[in-house]
Parts: sequence; C-alpha cells; structure tokens
Amino acid sequence: MALVNEHYLKLPNNYLFADIAKKVNAFKVSHPKANVISLGIGDVTQPLCPAVIDAMHKAVEEMSVKSSFKGYGPEQGYMFLREAIVKNDFLPRGIHLDANEIFVNDGAKSDTGNIGELVRWDNSVGVTDPIYPVYIDSNAMCGRAGTLTDGKWSNVTYMPCLSENSFVPKIPDHRVDIIYLCYPNNPTGTVISKEELKKWVNYAIKNDTLIFYDAAYEAYIQDPEIPHSIYEIKGARKVAIEFHSYSKTAGFTGVRCGYTVIPKELTAATLDGRRIPLNPLWDRRQCTKFNGTSYISQRAAEAIYTEEGKAQVKSTIDYYMTNAKIMHHTLTKLGLQVYGGENAPYLWVKTPDGTGSWRFFEQMLYDAQVVCTPGVGFGPSGEGYIRLTAFGSRENCEEAMERITKWLK
Ligand code: PLP
Repeated sequence: MALVNEHYLKLPNNYLFADIAKKVNAFKVSHPKANVISLGIGDVTQPLCPAVIDAMHKAVEEMSVKSSFKGYGPEQGYMFLREAIVKNDFLPRGIHLDANEIFVNDGAKSDTGNIGELVRWDNSVGVTDPIYPVYIDSNAMCGRAGTLTDGKWSNVTYMPCLSENSFVPKIPDHRVDIIYLCYPNNPTGTVISKEELKKWVNYAIKNDTLIFYDAAYEAYIQDPEIPHSIYEIKGARKVAIEFHSYSKTAGFTGVRCGYTVIPKELTAATLDGRRIPLNPLWDRRQCTKFNGTSYISQRAAEAIYTEEGKAQVKSTIDYYMTNAKIMHHTLTKLGLQVYGGENAPYLWVKTPDGTGSWRFFEQMLYDAQVVCTPGVGFGPSGEGYIRLTAFGSRENCEEAMERITKWLK
C-alpha cells in the first residue's frame, strides 16, 4: 500500500490565485457583458523585447542544423549565461562570484520551492508576513511548517510587516534556522535599506541562520541607495542563498528562466557539528532532478545583457513603473493609504474603514469590475490590505483608475 504524504492534506484547500479565478469567473457568468480588468495576478503583459526575440530566432536556427543542434545541456546552465550573469548582475556592484556559484533554472518558483530539500525537515522557519505563498507552502509539504491553526503554521515564526512598523520586519528575539526575505517585496512592494539588510546578515552570522533571499524584483529598484543583492552586504556569502528571475525583469513568465546563487563558502551543519558546503549539494540535487533550462531560453536570457537588450528591458520596466506612478497618484488622491509602487511593480493598499481584504476584493470586482488580490491571501498580516500590480497595459491601468475613482467618490 502506498502511503500518501499527509503533509499535503494540511495545506489550505486552494492556491490563492485559483480562488480568485473562481470568484472572477462566477462574476463573469452572472455579468456576461462586463469588461473586467485584472490588476490581480502578477503576470506581465508587454511582449518580449526585440533583442530577446532575435536571440531566440537565432537559437531556433541553430537547433535546425545538425552541426549546431543542442540536446541536453549542462544541468547547471550554459557557461555563456552563467558568465554573463556574473559579469553584468554582480561585478558592477562590487560582488565577485564564480560562474560555478550560479545555477540557471526554469524560474525562481522551482528553486524557492525546492531549496528546502537541502536542509533537514525539522529546522525552524521564519518569514516576513505577508509573503509570497510558495515559501510557506513548500515547507508545509515536507512537514517543516508544522500544523495550521487559525491561518498560522505552528513551526513558523511570522514577522509582521504593517503600516504601523513601516513594513520593516522586526528581527526575531530568538534563534530561527532558516529565514526567507524577499526584496523588493511581493506583495507589499516595499524595499529594504542597506542598514536594515546588514542587521539581518549580522543576525544570521550570529545565530547560524540560513537566509533565502528572493531578489526576483530587483530590476524594478529606482533608488540607487537600495541594495539589489544581499551579497552587497559583507559576510552575506557565508549565510545566504539568492534567487533571481527573468520573469518580471524581461517578461519571461512564459519563456521560463532564472537563476540561483549558492556561494562556495555557504555551509550548513550536520547533527554532529560538521560544516557541509551547500553548493556541491545543490549541484548534486540538480544533476539528479533537473535536466537544465532550454538552450533557447538561455540564449534569450543572455540577450538581455547586450547593450540593446539592457536598453529595451529598461524601457519595459519604465513602462510598468509609469503605471505604478499613475496608480499611486490616483489612489492617494482618493484618500487611500498606498504603499510600495516606487521601487517595485506592486502597490499595497490599506482597505478603508477596516474592510476585510476579501470583502474589498468583492466590492471592487462588483462595483468597478477591477480585480485585485486580497492581502490576507499572502498571510495573516495581509488582512485589511489589497495588492494591485502595475503589469497591466497603460489603457487598462488608466481605465481601472477611472473606474475606481468613480466607485470610491
Ligand atoms: N519570487 C517571487 C517573490 C515572485 O513573486 C515570483 C512570481 O510571481 C517568483 C519568485 C517566481 O517567479 P518565476 O518562477 O516566474 O521566476
């Protein structure tokens, strides 16, 4: 008899975005003529830039000729991409990485979800709250999160990020083995300063804590003082794994490519106190369970580091950030409390008069035909907030703001 992994049975019934889709579909069935605008799910809308498309076409041509055809590639990613990453994403910030510390993947979701395989199931976990749900759910799936009661997992330390603490999480007053940080943050759109990040690195060094740092939105940072990588902080190489994604940087949500950085100095302990480097363990894991990202996707990713690629990617990011500005301006003028949206493509909006997140989601859907994401779906501290994304088209963004203005006025 095959016994099921019962940890899966502890997970809340549905994935947040499946719940939202169900409610939106129900609305559409009863209002077939309504033109619903989604500012909910964090998917991009603008096409891939020309430099990426050219590189993909070239790669397809190579695949069509026997002499340049590629089969399985290296599980860790092609060296041309790993070297381009080291040279463009890190060297200009004074971070010296070896290409072997970069693991190319099919996007950050897989690795942020799978990285927990490297550490024992009984480590304690800390998350800022609200948070990208993959971190907690993936820990719940292997039993590390414990049991779920009243929306909280028993083995997880929640670090609330609220308007009351300006969304700066308080460092725990006790030891936590693994901490997830995500900056710029999904869902709150807030960022972390170098001084605050330094405190986390120092906490990790002092407490022998492993930090999983998700930098999926670093390309959206506008303020030159905000760190793009945790490795900008001294000592971080010994305590942190960092995740990057081309999904929001370059519109790769449907192409699939990202990478994970595991520095060679980074170790975790065995029960008898030996220190084990995690880089070779992840290499071993990838060779066993991952057969590499497609050659075409990796050539596409390489193209964003060319001069044209950089300029084109920046122009799309500027487009989304102009949306964010328009949204921030309109919603603030309406008297709402709006956070984020300045160094991130997300706006985190406090619902008026203490309205619950799901209630406000439904009101906005039925009264303005605009879809947002209820903040509570990202964790208990998200109650009383909603998330809006700047990833829509300009027209939709402007139309949505007009409708919300009419509705709330
Ligand atoms: N990390 C964060 C914080 C995200 O918001 C997302 C996607 O929305 C991801 C990782 C996953 O991105 P992908 O798998 O498309 O690279």
